[in-house]
Amino acid sequence: MAVPEQYDAIVLGAGGAGLMCAGFAGQRGRRVLVVDHNDEPGRKILISGGGRCNFTNLGAAPDRYLSANPHFAVSALKRYTAHDFLELVEAHGIAWHEKTLGQLFCDGSARQIVALLMAECAKGEVTFRFGHSVGAVDHANNRFRVTAGDRVAEAPALVIATGGPSIPKLGATGLAYDLARRFGLKVVEPRPALVPLTLGGDQALFRALSGVAAPVKASCEGASFREAALFTHRGMSGPAILQVSSYWRRGRSVAIDFLPDERPGWLLAAKRERPRARLSGLLDQRLPGRLAETLAERLGVAGELANMPDRTLSEVERRLADWRFDPTGSEGYAKAEVTAGGIATDGLSSRTMEARKVPGLFAVGEAVDVTGWLGGYNFQWAWSSGYAAAQAL
Ligand SMILES: Cc1cc2nc3c(=O)[nH]c(=O)nc-3n(C[C@H](O)[C@H](O)[C@H](O)COP(=O)(O)OP(=O)(O)OC[C@H]3O[C@@H](n4cnc5c(N)ncnc54)[C@H](O)[C@@H]3O)c2cc1C
Repeated sequence: MAVPEQYDAIVLGAGGAGLMCAGFAGQRGRRVLVVDHNDEPGRKILISGGGRCNFTNLGAAPDRYLSANPHFAVSALKRYTAHDFLELVEAHGIAWHEKTLGQLFCDGSARQIVALLMAECAKGEVTFRFGHSVGAVDHANNRFRVTAGDRVAEAPALVIATGGPSIPKLGATGLAYDLARRFGLKVVEPRPALVPLTLGGDQALFRALSGVAAPVKASCEGASFREAALFTHRGMSGPAILQVSSYWRRGRSVAIDFLPDERPGWLLAAKRERPRARLSGLLDQRLPGRLAETLAERLGVAGELANMPDRTLSEVERRLADWRFDPTGSEGYAKAEVTAGGIATDGLSSRTMEARKVPGLFAVGEAVDVTGWLGGYNFQWAWSSGYAAAQAL
């Protein structure tokens, strides 16, 4: 058997969280090895934000994250903020812009963010082993021993940064959960999040609207998002739907307000002002034609407003503001931008990401049960949690 190479820390996974952790730990004088089975680092970063990487969000605050313990993210997010990462981006001369809702993107390419992280790792003299899947992971005498290909490495610290199982074709696996369980940590049931939802049964008819998008307010389980929804050949997508998908569980419904800008009573006011108008016409002025037509058809009211009782119009207004969809499922890990759930935070220190009962074992990034909204929040968690662990290595 090969003689183990000695390091101060072994980081499993060269995604955003692993690279951040490795670079900063290296710069603190730690000898760090990063192992990844992909041939290159940061594959999710490369395809993120349509190739421009939405690398953080100026509004990154704990209430933008889902977790069984909503307070867990507070410490790390406070110690390494969106502004800290932005400073790093600027120090590397990367041009950026704010798109909307505090979302920051590269002007150029997501490659610049990977290059930034690799440059920080180079400063910290981090060693990489790409193209090797993680084999045996052993723990004895307070040392972790990791086999990767034909090489063996040993260190007093091991950082689990292998993310969640979303988008397996990019190299995503459930290794983080297997390792966590082996070391006695609990795992909050993982599920696809930021994912398109599918429609069936009676509501499958909406799939005929494939390609139609509209600005809506989508709500699920107390969370609401005012963004665009898009009908697809399988169901619904678009930012508003991706956001609520993280809150959605099987058997629950998603409520859509198709006219979030209309004030209560708008339809009765329209009846008074334009009694000869028809509902289909009013909807057509406010929504894409095919959607307006489908909604009017489903509401089953035809004729002029003047001929409709106020009660009917109030009910129509209510339904348009609270249209219930009952998704049959989601498009799953193949299409999910992130995985919700993951390594339970109650076994980890929120300050350092170290396992309470296994000194030297850390978990960072998406592998942990902290899931951000759409809009740069997940990368910010990768940076903040990676940085937190790096300070403790
Ligand atoms: C299409 C898409 C677009 C996205 N866009 C954005 C965005 O614009 N903004 C944003 O904030 N978030 C975005 N996200 C989410 C974001 O990419 C992730 O939350 C983030 O990359 C998580 O970082 P991580 O380092 O924890 O995990 P990952 O980036 O998943 O890194 C894990 C690493 O571990 C390696 N690995 C896994 N299993 C093994 C194994 N068994 N052996 C060896 N190595 C292994 C993987 O190859 C990978 O390199 C997007 C996600 C997707 C899929």
